[in-house]
Amino acid sequence: MIAPQHHGIVVIGAGIAGASIAQEIISRGHAVCVVEAESDLATACSSHAYAIAHPHITRGSAKLLQLTRIAFELALARWGDQWVHRGALQPLKNGVDFDRDAMALQLNELGLRSEIALPVSAEEASQLAGVARAGVWFANAGMLSLEKTAKQLLHPCAQLTQINQMKIDFLVREGNHWLLTDASKKITIRADKVIVAAGLASKKIMSSVQIKLPLKPVRGQLSFFKIRPNSNWAARLPRAIICGDGYCIPASQLENGDMRWIVGSSFDENETDNHPRHESDRFNQEQAAGLLNYAEGDQSELMPDGQFVGIRCVAGDRLPIIGALPQQPGIFVATALGSRGILWSALAAKLIADQVLAGDFALLTRLGFTSALAAALAPDRFLAGAVPPALGAFASNSNPILPPSPRAR
Ligand SMILES: Cc1cc2nc3c(=O)[nH]c(=O)nc-3n(C[C@H](O)[C@H](O)[C@H](O)COP(=O)(O)OP(=O)(O)OC[C@H]3O[C@@H](n4cnc5c(N)ncnc54)[C@H](O)[C@@H]3O)c2cc1C
Repeated sequence: MIAPQHHGIVVIGAGIAGASIAQEIISRGHAVCVVEAESDLATACSSHAYAIAHPHITRGSAKLLQLTRIAFELALARWGDQWVHRGALQPLKNGVDFDRDAMALQLNELGLRSEIALPVSAEEASQLAGVARAGVWFANAGMLSLEKTAKQLLHPCAQLTQINQMKIDFLVREGNHWLLTDASKKITIRADKVIVAAGLASKKIMSSVQIKLPLKPVRGQLSFFKIRPNSNWAARLPRAIICGDGYCIPASQLENGDMRWIVGSSFDENETDNHPRHESDRFNQEQAAGLLNYAEGDQSELMPDGQFVGIRCVAGDRLPIIGALPQQPGIFVATALGSRGILWSALAAKLIADQVLAGDFALLTRLGFTSALAAALAPDRFLAGAVPPALGAFASNSNPILPPSPRAR
């Protein structure tokens, strides 16, 4: 029998989460082995080429808003110089009056500096984004190709072992190590520490160590619309990213003079079919009208001409699952990134690297990351009796009771 390869740190999954974490660990001087089921990197949800990033300011718990602010700062520091289309406008909801001072106060209370989020009048928004709607201007927001970024992060180097076409199904404890096996239980790798960043497949892998993660698929479709130059839409197309109910990126001109405009995204819970759908294009036409406040526009002039379809991985409470697993020392999880792959990957890279390498959490602490926020992300938050962890410390909870929670589907 061939002895399994031994690696100190193994990351399962080469999407944006696994790639960001692996690169962060390598940048701190450690070797990493990345194991990917497919023949190439970033072929699943992270094949997305038009992902946007900005802090979130509406809808959601105070913890979520704090976390997106911290994660945005990290993403900006890491990828800001690669952003495509810098700047995003989030218009106010229809019927809400623009009150600059009250908005500035609210943004300040969320810890968002004016360089990050600034109230803008309709006139200012028109100049910045080409859309005359008052709202919040995120000057440093931007767009990334997740696929390109993951491939850059996993650029070959001496400290990276990249193994493709190896699907890991089970983790088995052996003394101080973990054995990674495939479906036939053939042992392929022995590792000291394992980081599970396999999107939805993390559920199956973690169930092999009796941890039931409440993950579910949410299908999403982004539509690429073609617009004739003489359409009334053409003169209204934005010059910046617009976000709110859905999002769009600035339109570009095709060689024949038509415009190409990318608008998303649909949201189909518990669906895993990744074929494009007409109904999702229609949904995105509605979102397009909402983003531009152009209800009277003829939506048939937004002609579907391509799509990106991905299956998001979402946790029951909509927060990502990022952190160490005290019940299974040596196992770490980074999944359930939902629609915020850029933000949560940037946060996961720092948090998991600090936990795996016993770092000092100095950067995260400086940005306002607390043990309460760590507890909100921790994989064991779904286990009855989970103890909120002190930052960096492994909470003691050796005998978890798995909840019959309706979320845990
Ligand atoms: C329509 C749509 C729009 C979106 N818009 C945005 C946006 O604007 N901004 C943003 O930040 N995010 C956005 N997202 C979300 C973003 O795409 C995801 O959050 C992100 O790609 C998830 O990355 P991941 O690495 O966690 O998972 P994945 O990309 O799914 O990577 C998991 C990897 O693990 C591998 N794997 C699976 N099982 C195994 C196994 N058993 N063994 C080994 N390897 C395995 C897979 O092959 C895959 O490569 C959007 C998503 C969709 C669908």
